[in-house]
Amino acid sequence: MGALRRKLARAGLSGLLVTHLPDVRYLCGFTGSSAALAVTRRSARMFTDGRYTTQAAAEVKAAQVEIVGRGPAISAVQWMAAQAGAETAGFDPARTTVAELTRLKEALPARLRRTFLTPVPAPLVETLRLVKDEDELRILREAALMGCRLFDHMLGFLRPGLMEVEVAAELEHQARLMGAEGMSFDTIVASGPRSALPHGRATAARLPRRGFLTLDFGIIHEGYCSDMTRTVYLGTAKPKERQAYEAVLAAQESAVAAVTAGVKCGEVDEAARAVLRDAGLADAFTHSTGHGVGLEIHEAPRVGAGQATRLQAGMVVTIEPGIYLEGEFGIRIEDMVAVTRHGGQVLTPSPKALIEL
Ligand code: ZN
Ligand code: ZN
Repeated sequence: MGALRRKLARAGLSGLLVTHLPDVRYLCGFTGSSAALAVTRRSARMFTDGRYTTQAAAEVKAAQVEIVGRGPAISAVQWMAAQAGAETAGFDPARTTVAELTRLKEALPARLRRTFLTPVPAPLVETLRLVKDEDELRILREAALMGCRLFDHMLGFLRPGLMEVEVAAELEHQARLMGAEGMSFDTIVASGPRSALPHGRATAARLPRRGFLTLDFGIIHEGYCSDMTRTVYLGTAKPKERQAYEAVLAAQESAVAAVTAGVKCGEVDEAARAVLRDAGLADAFTHSTGHGVGLEIHEAPRVGAGQATRLQAGMVVTIEPGIYLEGEFGIRIEDMVAVTRHGGQVLTPSPKALIEL
């Protein structure tokens, strides 16, 4: 909260309206699904409804709680406007619809309607969330290791003839038994030619006797997301398939090796892309190399071509190059990597050499 207040002062704002729920959780600990947080230079107040009276009292730190009967964001804005000397409050334009903004303005006294709410030029809270503190890193490390244990379990479960949805169900069932709060996104199980779909959600398709199988999954642990991908082979890979796998693995390891504090995200992306270019697979690599991960499965920074953002110690990013050859197969390998001053620390140490089942 202190760091956020310094940012408010620098931006010349009296307060900030926070409505994006992961931001609310980050700042005051509340995990409910309806809330708005008002942060001023002197105090903070979180608004929620009567369903959350007990939960808010138990969870919220560093902010007062007020239970309201109407929209929490409207209450938050009205409260900030009523504070002595309040002139402006920032809001995140990327998280506020035009309809919401109209409603918020209408709830203000007439003299403040035009000037009080100010869009912040860059998201203030998301910027704070970029760099994880020790506690967040511990949770992310634990989440990542739970993912690895799941992958281990799945290696003993996979066999030709299973439906992809059975694979996803087993993975998600085991995740729950392990204590996961949920999955961080719809589990991707893409087998055979379907592995060429970068986001192939599990279907009724059956695992082939021979072919690649991509598993991309993540669990939620203490609110934080894990994310990892492994591609295994059912049967014995043909030389062309093995070569392609080796190229993706080399690209992935090259990008992991490029991760360190001070390096531009675009340079990490290029480390992967250059390897695939040399292997003649540049066109088959159709997405960015990775993304930040934390309270949300996709958050800043984006590890993509030309990205000028520099990695800082404490950031956690995924490194996940992949290739997709339509009608044939696809391969992706993804790790979570914590940025330190002395390089990247892989949080998902599951084996990456080609596994043939
Ligand atoms: Zn993933
Ligand atoms: Zn990912």
